[in-house]
Amino acid sequence: MKKLTGQDRSITTTWRPATQAVRGGTARSHFGETSEAIFLTSGFTYDCAGDAAARFAGEQQGMTYSRLQNPTVEMLEERIALMEGAEAARCMASGMAAMTAALLCQLSAGDHVVAGRAAFGSCRWLTDTLLPRFGIESTIVDGTDNDAWKAAIRPNTRLFFFETPANPTLDIVDLEAVCRIAKDAGVLTIVDNAFATPLLQRPLDYGADIVAYSATKMMDGQGRVLAGAVCGTKEFIDNTLLSFTRNTGPTLSAFNAWVVLKGMETLDLRIRRQSENALQVAQFLEKRVPRALYPGLASHPQHALAMKQMSAGGTIIAVYLDGGRSQAHGLLDALELIDISNNIGDSRSLMTHPSSTTHAGLSAEVRAAMGVEEGMLRLNVGLEDPLDLIDDLDRALKAVGL
Ligand SMILES: *Cc1c(COP(=O)(O)O)cnc(C)c1O
Repeated sequence: MKKLTGQDRSITTTWRPATQAVRGGTARSHFGETSEAIFLTSGFTYDCAGDAAARFAGEQQGMTYSRLQNPTVEMLEERIALMEGAEAARCMASGMAAMTAALLCQLSAGDHVVAGRAAFGSCRWLTDTLLPRFGIESTIVDGTDNDAWKAAIRPNTRLFFFETPANPTLDIVDLEAVCRIAKDAGVLTIVDNAFATPLLQRPLDYGADIVAYSATKMMDGQGRVLAGAVCGTKEFIDNTLLSFTRNTGPTLSAFNAWVVLKGMETLDLRIRRQSENALQVAQFLEKRVPRALYPGLASHPQHALAMKQMSAGGTIIAVYLDGGRSQAHGLLDALELIDISNNIGDSRSLMTHPSSTTHAGLSAEVRAAMGVEEGMLRLNVGLEDPLDLIDDLDRALKAVGL
């Protein structure tokens, strides 16, 4: 059996991200298949005992066990790294596995983390609940306030951790300014880029050190599998992250990696069309509800910053109603086309009430400070005709008296 033939990275790094999304990282077997192969194997064989020993000693190239390496997973890792403009990437079983690994692989008791206030519920659980159990302190700041990031730095601060746009309030963090503040203080920056993907925003270009993903969202994009990824320098991935993931085992399955590889091929098309649809739906909503937040709308308080660092507004709209939970639930229950679902990044339009679902695990005070109000809804705009989505929302809004 011949070795997989990978692409020469010196050639592929010159391709633009939309080309990388289709072709980056492809490694063909001797059959010359066009579509990437799925290597559903837990282990690998050796021609002789000496080869096994050499491979374990790191003296011979090759794979040993799928918790450590897998050809299909490596194709996805290479593709994501090339799209991100990163030296290397490592895939994980879910977005939360990626976030947890990115934090725990480099933190120790006595360290301090500064994190953005608006965040995915489980990311807040990591900073607020898990890290303190291991003696790692965190300070939560308003991510939109550059001075707050600076003021929170202590001598033992190791990391800044934030999302932009943030889930679900769509706060925008000024990547260039905040990464600069971190660099000046010798602090590393981890950016959760799930909402934008490398096709709308590449945090490394603004000085971020590490970019982490839930690939479950736009990268799969069709609501099929969970996956995550961490991108950074080769030094960080090989010397800090790898020993953590190889020994703790948040491994992405080859099958799920393959599904995401297929999703990546249409990512550019999907995210641009979904962003166009979202803008059209947001323009309708802002005239009909007390408040609609979408980074692509001029009315978003950070519209100029969002458009400076993102090439489109993304797929998520935050809708604020005045009638609290009952009106928000009433609107969801009146929808006929849009599904009630807490996933995002899907090609189907999905709507959820964060305070009773994705952010229900946080205290009421934390939710209030984040802007997750009882009357708030989060809409993921999919690939349907936006006029049908507007009709559905129009009907549901009328049903709750709006
Ligand atoms: C969904 C999400 C996560 C978690 O990803 P999973 O794949 O569900 O584990 C983390 N951060 C953000 C911003 C998300 O939207």
